[in-house]
Amino acid sequence: MKKFRLFTPGPTMVPEDILLAMAHPIFHHRTPEHREMAIEVCELLQYLFQTKGHCPIVTGSGTSAAEAVIVGCLSPGHKAFVPRNGKFAERWAKVCKAFNIEHTTKDIEWGYGVKVDDVKQAMDADPKIDTVIVVHSETSTTTYTDVEGIAKLCRERDAILIVDGITAVGAIPVKMDEWGVDAYITGSQKALMLPPGLGFAAIGERAWNRIEGGNMACYYTDIKAYKASVDTGDAPYTPANTLILGTRMALRKIKEQGLENIWAETASMAKAMREAAAAIGVQVFAKDPVDSVTGLLVPEGVDEGKLRKTMKAKHGFHIAGGQGDLKGKMVRFSHMGYVDRFDTLGAISALELTLGELGFKFDMGAGVAAAQKVFSQS
Ligand SMILES: *Cc1c(COP(=O)(O)O)cnc(C)c1O
Repeated sequence: MKKFRLFTPGPTMVPEDILLAMAHPIFHHRTPEHREMAIEVCELLQYLFQTKGHCPIVTGSGTSAAEAVIVGCLSPGHKAFVPRNGKFAERWAKVCKAFNIEHTTKDIEWGYGVKVDDVKQAMDADPKIDTVIVVHSETSTTTYTDVEGIAKLCRERDAILIVDGITAVGAIPVKMDEWGVDAYITGSQKALMLPPGLGFAAIGERAWNRIEGGNMACYYTDIKAYKASVDTGDAPYTPANTLILGTRMALRKIKEQGLENIWAETASMAKAMREAAAAIGVQVFAKDPVDSVTGLLVPEGVDEGKLRKTMKAKHGFHIAGGQGDLKGKMVRFSHMGYVDRFDTLGAISALELTLGELGFKFDMGAGVAAAQKVFSQS
């Protein structure tokens, strides 16, 4: 029987036991059962983000949690720096625009992460900047940004750092408290191997102080309302409790496996994919590649649409295309969540078979061999 594998960088595959955990009769949320579950999930989220901060759950995709944090931290009088190195970074600048939040941006060439110097220059030029928003893993360009370095600078300048960790948290090293990040955001459908529908934030003390003094016009995404929920397990509005049931199982599984082990395995899968690409003469797009998702440039003479279609229809691998200017030029493979090295070897094999069918000339099997070599050494 043919098997289908979802290799897009969100949503990602959900393990069978988590799917079954969510196939649960509906229960009421103003009950001890719900509160107990919600409190356990908040504690597990603290492990996930590596923080002692509060971790509210917002019903909505990752963008809802990000919007809540941005709006909460940026009342009139504050100013943000939002460097744009991809589609998601652009989104956070758009959120600022939508809420009339004072902000400046800098366009960074796609394929590169945001550098500490980019932030430093912006702050030197404009002392009003007291908040920085960056994307740890820019999924659209498959690039990595050094959050630890930027956090250090933000501490020195007494600025608040908000990080979109939607394809970083649970995939690559994230150490919120150790690095001094004020707020991290993630969503359910990426590295947490859950269906779409939940946004998670981790908020440190400095960010909470900002939020509590804030006065932006919003209601459902007013993150202040969620603070009590973290201590009591009582959500302000009806929570998506069957999804939270799945979250509890996902986070228990992540804790059992250990974040360090997951980070190492994600890095191995990404390295295997990059080495496989090099072995068959396919270029990795990013100059600062991130380990949670790999973007490959479609070789000249190969039709991107046909490549993705063949991968899916013939070989069962649903991969993603490029976004924005990279549409038609790039394909992306996820290394997040419920995916292992054997799925990854399969994806590389399917890519080789597909490229062969589409007339690309290369040494068939060299990619799989290069990937196997990486796995044999890790
Ligand atoms: C997927 C993604 C988002 C958007 O999340 P939604 O859950 O679709 O709202 C934001 N940032 C990054 C880096 C992402 O990968």
